[in-house]
Amino acid sequence: MNKTILAGMTWKEAEERMREARAVILPLGSFEQHGYHMSLNTDNIVGEYVAGVLAERTGCVALPVLPYGQVWSAKDFPATISLRERTFIEVVKDIVTSLERKGVRNVILFASHWGNAAPAKIAARELLDESGYANVYYLSYMDLKKHGKDVMETELWNGSGFHAAEIETSIVLAICPESVDMEKAVCEYPQAPGDVNIRPVPWITFCESGIFGDATKATAQKGRRFLERWIGDLAQLIENNIC
Ligand SMILES: [Zn+2]
Repeated sequence: MNKTILAGMTWKEAEERMREARAVILPLGSFEQHGYHMSLNTDNIVGEYVAGVLAERTGCVALPVLPYGQVWSAKDFPATISLRERTFIEVVKDIVTSLERKGVRNVILFASHWGNAAPAKIAARELLDESGYANVYYLSYMDLKKHGKDVMETELWNGSGFHAAEIETSIVLAICPESVDMEKAVCEYPQAPGDVNIRPVPWITFCESGIFGDATKATAQKGRRFLERWIGDLAQLIENNIC
């Protein structure tokens, strides 16, 4: 038995492991377009991988990834699926409540899709207010400026934005190369309307490929370096604060 992945356990094994484990990690992914070169499953691949490594390094156990998330911005691309923010929050709360009833020590919500980070925090707040669960943590999404320093060669979109570009593609090349087709990778820095930050603007109205940045510069080696820093940072955060 793998002692960190709950999906492979019987309920008896899980009962024991959940009691011993520092925390149960719930990866929060999405089913979202990732350009012409990566699959709709990208955020789920990354979420499951990172949660598994974190669980091993920090004495936690990991749940399967929640494969649908809040994807309002990209929802009009074919096959991208978006849960309304309220639906997503309620699903997360129901999963956490199921765990809490079985006496877990802590729960960690891990957003492997940017749009899930804000509603995950709201879910944790509501679980505290409504049920008194003070042991629900949320880990924010990857920080490209911090973890991408000296790894990233390309510019962020509008100084801070990115999607399916150099780093995300590099990560998937490192952990699941069969779900990337680099021959179809493109560079696109879409021109957003001037009021993009003060009214809701769906991406499909101004972005052709779905990419924000340059995916052509991705390599598996960059992905490994980025992952090492990102996971190292998250593991330290967990070890220092959650027991
Ligand atoms: Zn993504």
